[in-house]
Amino acid sequence: MSNSSIFKQIVEKKISANIIYEDKKITAFEDIKPKAPVHILIIPNIFIASLNDINKKNKDILGHMFYIAVNIAKEKKISKEGYRIVVNCNKNAGQEIEYLHMHLLGGKKLSVLL
Ligand code: 5GP
Repeated sequence: MSNSSIFKQIVEKKISANIIYEDKKITAFEDIKPKAPVHILIIPNIFIASLNDINKKNKDILGHMFYIAVNIAKEKKISKEGYRIVVNCNKNAGQEIEYLHMHLLGGKKLSVLL
């Protein structure tokens, strides 16, 4: 199984994940190896390999992913203390799964990256 198909199969409910939000466009679920007390992945329901594959036609998905990530942060009560949203793109950034995904991290003081 290529690693991109793990997320495809989560969207299709062929493998289990702790899904915390879903709609016609996106699915959000808990990361299997959480790096923070709240670590949720938000992915499009259609396959997009990485940020490099965002184009005129599919770009609106990013706004929706951000909007839902912020709503989840509020629901999880991490918005006031703060949280981080990360999208890794390709190998220098450490993208392991070739399927566009947004990380929502919070619930503790996160180490500063930049
Ligand atoms: P990346 O390094 O590609 O930005 O992040 C991939 C993330 O996917 C990692 O944080 C990893 O723990 C998570 N992950 C990998 N395989 C699975 C899986 O089968 N289920 C879930 N829920 N998360 C996964």
